[in-house]
Amino acid sequence: MAKQKKMVEAITSMDEDFAKWYTDVVKKAELTDYSGVKGCMVIRPYGYAIWENIQKDLDARFKKTGHENVYMPLLIPESLLQKEKDHVEGFAPEVAWVTQGGQEKLAERLCIRPTSEVLFCEHYQKIINSYRDLPKLYNQWCSVMRWEKTTRPFLRSSEFLWQEGHTMHETEEEARQETMQQLQTYADFYKETLAIPAVTGRKTEKEKFAGARETYTIEPMMHNGVALQGGTSHYFGDGFAKSFGITFAGRDNTLQYPHQTSWGVSTRMIGAIIMVHGDDNGLVLPPKVAPIQVVIVPIAMHKEGVLEKAREIAAKLSEVFRVKLDDSDNSPGWKFSEYEMKGVPLRLEIGPKDIEQNQCVLVRRDNREKTFVSLDSLTEEIPRLLQAVHDGLYEKALKNLEEKTYVARNYDEFLDIAANKPGFIKAMWCGDVECENKIKEDTGGVKSRCIPFEEEHLSDVCVCCGKPAKHQVYWGKQY
Ligand SMILES: [Zn+2]
Repeated sequence: MAKQKKMVEAITSMDEDFAKWYTDVVKKAELTDYSGVKGCMVIRPYGYAIWENIQKDLDARFKKTGHENVYMPLLIPESLLQKEKDHVEGFAPEVAWVTQGGQEKLAERLCIRPTSEVLFCEHYQKIINSYRDLPKLYNQWCSVMRWEKTTRPFLRSSEFLWQEGHTMHETEEEARQETMQQLQTYADFYKETLAIPAVTGRKTEKEKFAGARETYTIEPMMHNGVALQGGTSHYFGDGFAKSFGITFAGRDNTLQYPHQTSWGVSTRMIGAIIMVHGDDNGLVLPPKVAPIQVVIVPIAMHKEGVLEKAREIAAKLSEVFRVKLDDSDNSPGWKFSEYEMKGVPLRLEIGPKDIEQNQCVLVRRDNREKTFVSLDSLTEEIPRLLQAVHDGLYEKALKNLEEKTYVARNYDEFLDIAANKPGFIKAMWCGDVECENKIKEDTGGVKSRCIPFEEEHLSDVCVCCGKPAKHQVYWGKQY
Protein backbone atom coordinates (compact mmCIF):
# COMPACT_ATOMS: atom_id res chain seq x y z
CA MET A 1 0.00 0.00 0.00
CA ALA A 2 2.98 2.32 0.47
CA LYS A 3 3.55 2.26 -3.26
CA GLN A 4 -0.08 3.08 -3.99
CA LYS A 5 0.03 6.10 -1.72
CA LYS A 6 3.14 7.37 -3.41
CA MET A 7 1.50 7.13 -6.83
CA VAL A 8 -1.59 9.08 -5.89
CA GLU A 9 0.42 11.77 -4.14
CA ALA A 10 2.50 12.27 -7.23
CA ILE A 11 -0.35 13.93 -9.14
CA THR A 12 -0.98 17.60 -8.56
CA SER A 13 -4.65 18.39 -8.00
CA MET A 14 -6.47 20.03 -10.94
CA ASP A 15 -7.73 22.94 -8.88
CA GLU A 16 -4.31 23.64 -7.45
CA ASP A 17 -2.40 23.82 -10.74
CA PHE A 18 -4.15 22.66 -13.92
CA ALA A 19 -1.04 22.89 -16.10
CA LYS A 20 1.00 20.82 -13.69
CA TRP A 21 -1.88 18.34 -13.31
CA TYR A 22 -1.90 17.91 -17.11
CA THR A 23 1.84 17.25 -17.30
CA ASP A 24 1.60 14.79 -14.39
CA VAL A 25 -1.21 12.83 -16.05
CA VAL A 26 0.59 12.64 -19.39
CA LYS A 27 3.67 11.32 -17.66
CA LYS A 28 2.11 8.99 -15.07
CA ALA A 29 -0.33 7.45 -17.54
CA GLU A 30 2.69 6.75 -19.75
CA LEU A 31 1.35 8.57 -22.79
CA THR A 32 4.49 10.39 -23.93
CA ASP A 33 8.13 11.00 -23.16
CA TYR A 34 10.37 13.92 -23.99
CA SER A 35 12.88 13.63 -26.84
CA GLY A 36 16.25 15.18 -27.61
CA VAL A 37 14.67 17.75 -29.93
CA LYS A 38 12.52 20.29 -28.14
CA GLY A 39 8.93 20.11 -29.29
CA CYS A 40 9.17 16.58 -30.62
CA MET A 41 7.56 13.93 -28.44
CA VAL A 42 7.87 10.20 -28.03
CA ILE A 43 4.36 8.78 -28.08
CA ARG A 44 4.50 5.69 -25.88
CA PRO A 45 2.46 2.51 -26.56
CA TYR A 46 -0.48 3.49 -24.34
CA GLY A 47 -0.71 6.93 -25.93
CA TYR A 48 -0.25 5.58 -29.43
CA ALA A 49 -2.99 2.97 -28.90
CA ILE A 50 -5.42 5.82 -28.19
CA TRP A 51 -4.35 7.44 -31.47
CA GLU A 52 -4.81 4.14 -33.33
CA ASN A 53 -8.38 3.85 -32.03
CA ILE A 54 -9.07 7.45 -33.05
CA GLN A 55 -7.62 6.74 -36.49
CA LYS A 56 -9.66 3.57 -37.04
CA ASP A 57 -12.92 5.29 -36.18
CA LEU A 58 -12.29 8.46 -38.18
CA ASP A 59 -10.85 6.62 -41.17
CA ALA A 60 -14.01 4.51 -41.42
CA ARG A 61 -16.11 7.69 -41.34
CA PHE A 62 -14.02 9.26 -44.13
CA LYS A 63 -14.25 6.15 -46.30
CA LYS A 64 -17.99 5.92 -45.80
CA THR A 65 -18.25 9.32 -47.52
CA GLY A 66 -16.06 8.26 -50.44
CA HIS A 67 -12.60 9.46 -49.40
CA GLU A 68 -9.40 7.62 -50.34
CA ASN A 69 -6.07 7.62 -48.51
CA VAL A 70 -2.86 8.69 -50.26
CA TYR A 71 0.66 9.59 -49.25
CA MET A 72 2.52 12.76 -50.27
CA PRO A 73 6.23 13.53 -49.77
CA LEU A 74 7.63 14.94 -46.52
CA LEU A 75 9.58 17.69 -48.31
CA ILE A 76 8.34 20.69 -50.27
CA PRO A 77 10.62 22.70 -52.62
CA GLU A 78 10.68 26.37 -51.66
CA SER A 79 9.44 27.44 -55.09
CA LEU A 80 6.37 25.25 -54.71
CA LEU A 81 5.52 26.66 -51.28
CA GLN A 82 5.83 30.20 -52.70
CA LYS A 83 3.10 29.68 -55.28
CA GLU A 84 0.19 30.79 -53.11
CA LYS A 85 1.00 34.13 -51.47
CA ASP A 86 -1.33 34.18 -48.44
CA HIS A 87 -0.55 30.56 -47.67
CA VAL A 88 3.23 31.01 -47.60
CA GLU A 89 2.96 34.21 -45.56
CA GLY A 90 0.87 32.40 -42.97
CA PHE A 91 3.26 29.50 -42.60
CA ALA A 92 6.69 31.06 -43.22
CA PRO A 93 7.41 31.94 -39.55
CA GLU A 94 7.09 28.33 -38.42
CA VAL A 95 8.61 26.36 -41.27
CA ALA A 96 11.70 24.14 -40.80
CA TRP A 97 14.11 23.92 -43.75
CA VAL A 98 16.41 21.25 -45.13
CA THR A 99 19.42 22.92 -46.75
CA GLN A 100 21.89 20.09 -47.08
CA GLY A 101 21.78 16.49 -48.37
CA GLY A 102 24.75 14.38 -47.31
CA GLN A 103 27.81 16.57 -47.93
CA GLU A 104 26.12 18.64 -50.55
CA LYS A 105 24.45 22.00 -50.09
CA LEU A 106 21.11 21.93 -51.91
CA ALA A 107 20.48 24.28 -54.85
CA GLU A 108 16.97 24.86 -53.55
CA ARG A 109 15.86 24.75 -49.92
CA LEU A 110 13.28 22.11 -49.04
CA CYS A 111 10.74 22.73 -46.33
CA ILE A 112 9.42 20.02 -44.06
CA ARG A 113 5.66 20.02 -44.69
CA PRO A 114 3.75 22.20 -42.22
CA THR A 115 0.60 21.14 -44.16
CA SER A 116 0.33 19.70 -47.67
CA GLU A 117 -1.98 21.92 -49.75
CA VAL A 118 0.75 22.76 -52.26
CA LEU A 119 1.79 19.11 -52.70
CA PHE A 120 -1.79 18.06 -53.37
CA CYS A 121 -2.21 20.96 -55.80
CA GLU A 122 0.92 20.03 -57.72
CA HIS A 123 -0.40 16.50 -58.06
CA TYR A 124 -3.97 17.54 -58.89
CA GLN A 125 -2.62 19.80 -61.63
CA LYS A 126 -1.32 16.67 -63.36
CA ILE A 127 -4.29 14.35 -62.92
CA ILE A 128 -7.33 16.61 -63.27
CA ASN A 129 -8.27 17.29 -66.89
CA SER A 130 -11.98 16.83 -67.25
CA TYR A 131 -15.11 17.11 -65.13
CA ARG A 132 -15.05 13.30 -65.29
CA ASP A 133 -11.94 13.38 -63.06
CA LEU A 134 -13.89 15.15 -60.31
CA PRO A 135 -14.43 15.09 -57.45
CA LYS A 136 -11.07 14.06 -56.03
CA LEU A 137 -11.55 13.08 -52.39
CA TYR A 138 -8.10 12.41 -50.94
CA ASN A 139 -6.97 12.11 -47.35
CA GLN A 140 -3.53 11.65 -45.86
CA TRP A 141 -2.46 10.32 -42.44
CA CYS A 142 1.01 11.66 -41.65
CA SER A 143 3.05 13.92 -39.41
CA VAL A 144 3.73 17.59 -40.07
CA MET A 145 6.20 20.05 -38.59
CA ARG A 146 5.64 23.59 -37.35
CA TRP A 147 8.51 25.12 -35.43
CA GLU A 148 6.86 26.14 -32.16
CA LYS A 149 8.47 28.33 -29.52
CA THR A 150 6.58 26.98 -26.54
CA THR A 151 5.52 23.37 -26.61
CA ARG A 152 3.36 21.01 -24.56
CA PRO A 153 2.71 17.31 -25.17
CA PHE A 154 -0.24 16.81 -27.58
CA LEU A 155 -1.41 20.44 -27.32
CA ARG A 156 1.39 22.21 -29.10
CA SER A 157 4.37 20.31 -30.46
CA SER A 158 6.67 21.00 -33.39
CA GLU A 159 6.00 17.64 -34.97
CA PHE A 160 2.55 16.13 -34.61
CA LEU A 161 0.44 13.39 -36.16
CA TRP A 162 -2.72 14.27 -38.03
CA GLN A 163 -4.90 13.63 -41.00
CA GLU A 164 -5.35 16.17 -43.74
CA GLY A 165 -8.14 15.81 -46.27
CA HIS A 166 -7.73 17.68 -49.58
CA THR A 167 -10.56 17.61 -52.07
CA MET A 168 -11.31 19.11 -55.49
CA HIS A 169 -14.79 19.69 -56.87
CA GLU A 170 -16.51 20.70 -60.06
CA THR A 171 -18.66 23.38 -58.46
CA GLU A 172 -18.52 25.82 -55.59
CA GLU A 173 -21.72 24.37 -54.18
CA GLU A 174 -20.27 20.87 -54.04
CA ALA A 175 -17.05 22.06 -52.39
CA ARG A 176 -19.01 24.03 -49.81
CA GLN A 177 -21.09 20.95 -49.07
CA GLU A 178 -17.92 18.92 -48.57
CA THR A 179 -16.52 21.57 -46.18
CA MET A 180 -19.64 21.41 -44.04
CA GLN A 181 -19.95 17.64 -44.27
CA GLN A 182 -16.42 17.16 -42.94
CA LEU A 183 -16.98 19.64 -40.10
CA GLN A 184 -20.09 17.64 -39.19
CA THR A 185 -18.05 14.42 -39.35
CA TYR A 186 -15.70 15.92 -36.77
CA ALA A 187 -18.56 17.12 -34.57
CA ASP A 188 -20.19 13.65 -34.71
CA PHE A 189 -16.86 12.00 -33.93
CA TYR A 190 -16.26 14.28 -30.95
CA LYS A 191 -19.71 13.51 -29.57
CA GLU A 192 -20.15 9.84 -30.45
CA THR A 193 -16.58 8.61 -29.96
CA LEU A 194 -14.79 11.04 -27.64
CA ALA A 195 -17.89 12.01 -25.59
CA ILE A 196 -16.91 15.67 -26.01
CA PRO A 197 -19.47 18.42 -26.70
CA ALA A 198 -18.31 21.48 -28.61
CA VAL A 199 -19.29 24.76 -30.18
CA THR A 200 -19.04 24.84 -33.98
CA GLY A 201 -19.03 27.77 -36.36
CA ARG A 202 -17.06 29.96 -38.75
CA LYS A 203 -13.73 31.60 -37.95
CA THR A 204 -13.38 35.36 -38.36
CA GLU A 205 -11.13 36.74 -41.14
CA LYS A 206 -8.35 37.24 -38.59
CA GLU A 207 -8.45 33.66 -37.34
CA LYS A 208 -9.04 31.77 -40.58
CA PHE A 209 -6.48 29.45 -42.24
CA ALA A 210 -3.81 31.03 -44.42
CA GLY A 211 -5.09 31.01 -47.99
CA ALA A 212 -8.62 29.82 -47.18
CA ARG A 213 -11.72 31.71 -48.15
CA GLU A 214 -13.57 30.38 -45.11
CA THR A 215 -12.55 28.30 -42.13
CA TYR A 216 -15.01 26.36 -40.01
CA THR A 217 -14.02 25.08 -36.61
CA ILE A 218 -14.99 22.80 -33.76
CA GLU A 219 -14.20 24.28 -30.34
CA PRO A 220 -14.50 22.04 -27.29
CA MET A 221 -14.04 23.54 -23.83
CA MET A 222 -11.53 22.03 -21.44
CA HIS A 223 -12.40 21.39 -17.79
CA ASN A 224 -10.76 24.67 -16.74
CA GLY A 225 -12.79 26.74 -19.21
CA VAL A 226 -10.05 27.18 -21.80
CA ALA A 227 -10.87 26.43 -25.45
CA LEU A 228 -9.01 24.10 -27.75
CA GLN A 229 -9.31 24.43 -31.51
CA GLY A 230 -10.37 20.84 -32.00
CA GLY A 231 -10.47 20.57 -35.78
CA THR A 232 -10.94 22.76 -38.83
CA SER A 233 -12.51 22.48 -42.26
CA HIS A 234 -11.63 25.02 -44.95
CA TYR A 235 -13.27 26.18 -48.16
CA PHE A 236 -10.64 27.54 -50.55
CA GLY A 237 -12.69 28.58 -53.55
CA ASP A 238 -10.52 28.38 -56.68
CA GLY A 239 -7.62 30.47 -55.35
CA PHE A 240 -5.08 27.66 -55.13
CA ALA A 241 -6.33 26.17 -58.41
CA LYS A 242 -5.56 29.48 -60.13
CA SER A 243 -2.12 29.77 -58.53
CA PHE A 244 -1.27 26.21 -59.56
CA GLY A 245 -2.92 26.25 -63.00
CA ILE A 246 -5.33 23.43 -62.21
CA THR A 247 -8.04 23.45 -64.88
CA PHE A 248 -10.58 21.04 -66.28
CA ALA A 249 -12.83 20.84 -69.29
CA GLY A 250 -16.36 21.36 -67.98
CA ARG A 251 -19.60 19.76 -69.12
CA ASP A 252 -20.09 22.71 -71.51
CA ASN A 253 -16.56 22.16 -72.82
CA THR A 254 -15.19 25.41 -71.35
CA LEU A 255 -11.98 25.46 -69.30
CA GLN A 256 -12.75 25.87 -65.59
CA TYR A 257 -11.02 25.99 -62.21
CA PRO A 258 -12.04 23.36 -59.63
CA HIS A 259 -13.12 24.33 -56.11
CA GLN A 260 -11.06 23.08 -53.22
CA THR A 261 -11.39 22.11 -49.55
CA SER A 262 -9.08 20.87 -46.84
CA TRP A 263 -9.79 19.64 -43.31
CA GLY A 264 -7.77 18.20 -40.46
CA VAL A 265 -7.60 16.93 -36.90
CA SER A 266 -4.51 15.92 -34.98
CA THR A 267 -3.06 14.20 -31.90
CA ARG A 268 -4.17 17.37 -30.13
CA MET A 269 -7.46 15.51 -29.65
CA ILE A 270 -5.69 13.34 -27.08
CA GLY A 271 -4.94 16.56 -25.17
CA ALA A 272 -8.66 17.36 -25.34
CA ILE A 273 -9.60 13.92 -23.99
CA ILE A 274 -7.23 14.41 -21.04
CA MET A 275 -8.39 17.93 -20.23
CA VAL A 276 -12.12 17.41 -20.75
CA HIS A 277 -12.56 14.10 -18.91
CA GLY A 278 -9.60 13.71 -16.54
CA ASP A 279 -9.80 14.08 -12.74
CA ASP A 280 -7.54 14.15 -9.70
CA ASN A 281 -6.96 10.39 -9.97
CA GLY A 282 -5.67 10.71 -13.52
CA LEU A 283 -6.93 9.98 -16.99
CA VAL A 284 -10.56 9.10 -17.70
CA LEU A 285 -10.88 7.60 -21.16
CA PRO A 286 -14.01 7.47 -23.29
CA PRO A 287 -14.65 3.72 -23.80
CA LYS A 288 -14.56 3.87 -27.62
CA VAL A 289 -10.90 4.94 -27.76
CA ALA A 290 -9.64 3.36 -24.53
CA PRO A 291 -6.79 0.92 -25.29
CA ILE A 292 -8.11 -1.21 -22.40
CA GLN A 293 -11.89 -1.10 -21.93
CA VAL A 294 -12.05 -3.58 -19.06
CA VAL A 295 -9.24 -4.43 -16.68
CA ILE A 296 -9.65 -7.63 -14.69
CA VAL A 297 -8.18 -7.55 -11.18
CA PRO A 298 -8.25 -10.90 -9.37
CA ILE A 299 -8.68 -10.62 -5.58
CA ALA A 300 -6.87 -13.11 -3.30
CA MET A 301 -5.20 -14.42 -6.40
CA HIS A 302 -3.30 -17.15 -4.54
CA LYS A 303 -6.57 -18.87 -3.49
CA GLU A 304 -7.45 -21.93 -5.47
CA GLY A 305 -9.47 -21.34 -8.63
CA VAL A 306 -9.31 -17.50 -8.66
CA LEU A 307 -6.71 -17.04 -11.35
CA GLU A 308 -8.21 -19.81 -13.46
CA LYS A 309 -11.61 -18.16 -13.32
CA ALA A 310 -10.11 -14.74 -14.10
CA ARG A 311 -8.33 -16.19 -17.13
CA GLU A 312 -11.49 -17.89 -18.31
CA ILE A 313 -13.40 -14.57 -18.10
CA ALA A 314 -10.58 -12.68 -19.84
CA ALA A 315 -10.53 -15.16 -22.73
CA LYS A 316 -14.27 -14.93 -23.18
CA LEU A 317 -14.46 -11.12 -22.96
CA SER A 318 -11.46 -10.58 -25.24
CA GLU A 319 -13.53 -11.79 -28.17
CA VAL A 320 -15.71 -8.67 -27.88
CA PHE A 321 -13.84 -6.04 -25.84
CA ARG A 322 -10.30 -4.74 -25.33
CA VAL A 323 -9.46 -6.52 -22.10
CA LYS A 324 -6.44 -6.80 -19.84
CA LEU A 325 -6.02 -9.28 -17.03
CA ASP A 326 -3.47 -8.02 -14.50
CA ASP A 327 -2.14 -11.15 -12.81
CA SER A 328 1.08 -9.46 -11.67
CA ASP A 329 2.01 -9.75 -7.98
CA ASN A 330 1.24 -6.09 -7.27
CA SER A 331 -1.45 -5.66 -4.60
CA PRO A 332 -5.08 -5.16 -5.73
CA GLY A 333 -4.96 -1.66 -4.19
CA TRP A 334 -1.92 -0.76 -6.28
CA LYS A 335 -3.63 -2.11 -9.39
CA PHE A 336 -6.80 -0.10 -8.65
CA SER A 337 -4.93 3.20 -8.61
CA GLU A 338 -2.72 2.22 -11.56
CA TYR A 339 -5.72 1.62 -13.86
CA GLU A 340 -7.56 4.61 -12.49
CA MET A 341 -4.51 6.66 -13.44
CA LYS A 342 -4.65 5.13 -16.91
CA GLY A 343 -8.35 5.92 -17.21
CA VAL A 344 -9.59 2.39 -17.92
CA PRO A 345 -13.41 2.76 -18.12
CA LEU A 346 -14.35 -0.45 -16.27
CA ARG A 347 -12.63 -2.52 -13.60
CA LEU A 348 -13.73 -6.10 -13.04
CA GLU A 349 -12.91 -7.50 -9.59
CA ILE A 350 -13.24 -11.20 -8.91
CA GLY A 351 -12.37 -13.08 -5.70
CA PRO A 352 -13.18 -16.41 -4.00
CA LYS A 353 -16.51 -15.20 -2.55
CA ASP A 354 -17.63 -13.87 -5.92
CA ILE A 355 -16.79 -17.13 -7.61
CA GLU A 356 -18.87 -19.02 -5.01
CA GLN A 357 -21.83 -16.84 -5.96
CA ASN A 358 -21.07 -16.93 -9.72
CA GLN A 359 -20.66 -13.15 -9.85
CA CYS A 360 -18.10 -10.35 -10.05
CA VAL A 361 -17.92 -6.64 -9.29
CA LEU A 362 -17.77 -4.03 -12.06
CA VAL A 363 -16.56 -0.54 -11.09
CA ARG A 364 -16.96 2.49 -13.36
CA ARG A 365 -13.94 4.80 -13.65
CA ASP A 366 -15.97 7.96 -14.16
CA ASN A 367 -18.09 7.84 -10.97
CA ARG A 368 -16.73 4.76 -9.14
CA GLU A 369 -20.19 3.16 -9.10
CA LYS A 370 -20.05 -0.56 -8.25
CA THR A 371 -22.34 -3.17 -9.75
CA PHE A 372 -22.52 -6.86 -8.87
CA VAL A 373 -22.98 -8.79 -12.08
CA SER A 374 -23.70 -12.47 -12.67
CA LEU A 375 -20.91 -14.12 -14.64
CA ASP A 376 -23.58 -15.40 -17.04
CA SER A 377 -24.68 -11.90 -18.07
CA LEU A 378 -21.28 -10.17 -18.45
CA THR A 379 -21.48 -9.87 -22.24
CA GLU A 380 -24.77 -7.97 -21.88
CA GLU A 381 -23.83 -5.89 -18.83
CA ILE A 382 -20.42 -4.67 -20.01
CA PRO A 383 -21.68 -2.92 -23.19
CA ARG A 384 -24.45 -1.35 -21.13
CA LEU A 385 -21.95 -0.03 -18.58
CA LEU A 386 -19.48 1.16 -21.24
CA GLN A 387 -22.32 3.12 -22.83
CA ALA A 388 -23.25 4.49 -19.39
CA VAL A 389 -19.64 5.67 -18.92
CA HIS A 390 -19.71 7.33 -22.34
CA ASP A 391 -23.02 9.05 -21.62
CA GLY A 392 -21.89 10.07 -18.15
CA LEU A 393 -18.73 11.66 -19.53
CA TYR A 394 -20.65 13.52 -22.21
CA GLU A 395 -23.24 14.84 -19.76
CA LYS A 396 -20.57 16.03 -17.35
CA ALA A 397 -18.61 17.78 -20.12
CA LEU A 398 -21.79 19.38 -21.49
CA LYS A 399 -22.67 20.68 -18.03
CA ASN A 400 -19.19 22.19 -17.74
CA LEU A 401 -19.52 23.83 -21.18
CA GLU A 402 -22.93 25.26 -20.36
CA GLU A 403 -22.01 26.44 -16.87
CA LYS A 404 -18.87 28.17 -18.11
CA THR A 405 -20.52 29.99 -21.01
CA TYR A 406 -21.39 33.60 -20.17
CA VAL A 407 -23.12 36.48 -21.90
CA ALA A 408 -21.55 39.96 -21.97
CA ARG A 409 -23.73 42.90 -23.08
CA ASN A 410 -21.21 45.68 -22.53
CA TYR A 411 -17.45 46.01 -22.33
CA ASP A 412 -17.28 46.27 -18.52
CA GLU A 413 -19.16 43.01 -18.23
CA PHE A 414 -16.90 41.47 -20.85
CA LEU A 415 -13.69 42.49 -19.06
CA ASP A 416 -15.05 41.36 -15.71
CA ILE A 417 -15.94 37.90 -17.02
CA ALA A 418 -12.63 37.59 -18.90
CA ALA A 419 -10.72 38.43 -15.73
CA ASN A 420 -12.69 36.34 -13.25
CA LYS A 421 -14.60 33.54 -14.95
CA PRO A 422 -12.68 31.24 -17.27
CA GLY A 423 -14.90 29.98 -20.08
CA PHE A 424 -16.64 31.13 -23.26
CA ILE A 425 -18.15 34.60 -23.55
CA LYS A 426 -21.02 35.20 -25.93
CA ALA A 427 -21.02 38.79 -27.16
CA MET A 428 -21.90 40.89 -30.20
CA TRP A 429 -19.21 42.13 -32.61
CA CYS A 430 -19.03 44.76 -35.34
CA GLY A 431 -16.87 42.69 -37.67
CA ASP A 432 -13.71 44.82 -37.36
CA VAL A 433 -10.35 43.23 -36.68
CA GLU A 434 -9.44 46.27 -34.53
CA CYS A 435 -11.96 45.15 -31.92
CA GLU A 436 -10.58 41.61 -31.96
CA ASN A 437 -7.09 43.02 -31.39
CA LYS A 438 -8.25 45.35 -28.64
CA ILE A 439 -10.12 42.58 -26.84
CA LYS A 440 -7.10 40.31 -27.03
CA GLU A 441 -4.87 43.03 -25.62
CA ASP A 442 -7.24 44.18 -22.85
CA THR A 443 -7.90 40.65 -21.61
CA GLY A 444 -4.49 39.04 -21.92
CA GLY A 445 -5.40 36.66 -24.72
CA VAL A 446 -9.14 36.31 -25.24
CA LYS A 447 -9.76 35.64 -28.93
CA SER A 448 -12.78 35.04 -31.11
CA ARG A 449 -13.44 31.28 -31.17
CA CYS A 450 -16.10 31.34 -33.86
CA ILE A 451 -19.28 32.85 -35.23
CA PRO A 452 -21.83 30.12 -34.45
CA PHE A 453 -24.17 28.81 -37.16
CA GLU A 454 -27.17 29.87 -35.14
CA GLU A 455 -26.38 33.35 -33.90
CA GLU A 456 -28.25 34.89 -30.98
CA HIS A 457 -29.23 38.52 -30.96
CA LEU A 458 -27.81 39.71 -27.62
CA SER A 459 -27.79 43.44 -28.39
CA ASP A 460 -27.64 45.89 -31.31
CA VAL A 461 -24.06 47.03 -30.80
CA CYS A 462 -20.52 45.67 -30.72
CA VAL A 463 -19.48 44.81 -27.17
CA CYS A 464 -16.14 46.54 -27.71
CA CYS A 465 -16.63 49.70 -29.80
CA GLY A 466 -20.39 50.31 -29.67
CA LYS A 467 -20.79 50.41 -33.47
CA PRO A 468 -23.67 48.40 -34.98
CA ALA A 469 -23.14 44.68 -34.42
CA LYS A 470 -22.83 42.28 -37.33
CA HIS A 471 -22.39 38.96 -35.57
CA GLN A 472 -22.63 37.10 -32.32
CA VAL A 473 -19.26 35.60 -31.48
CA TYR A 474 -17.99 33.05 -28.98
CA TRP A 475 -14.87 34.43 -27.29
CA GLY A 476 -12.37 32.67 -25.10
CA LYS A 477 -8.78 31.91 -24.23
CA GLN A 478 -7.23 28.99 -26.07
CA TYR A 479 -4.48 26.41 -25.83
ZN1 LIG B 1 -16.40 46.73 -32.65
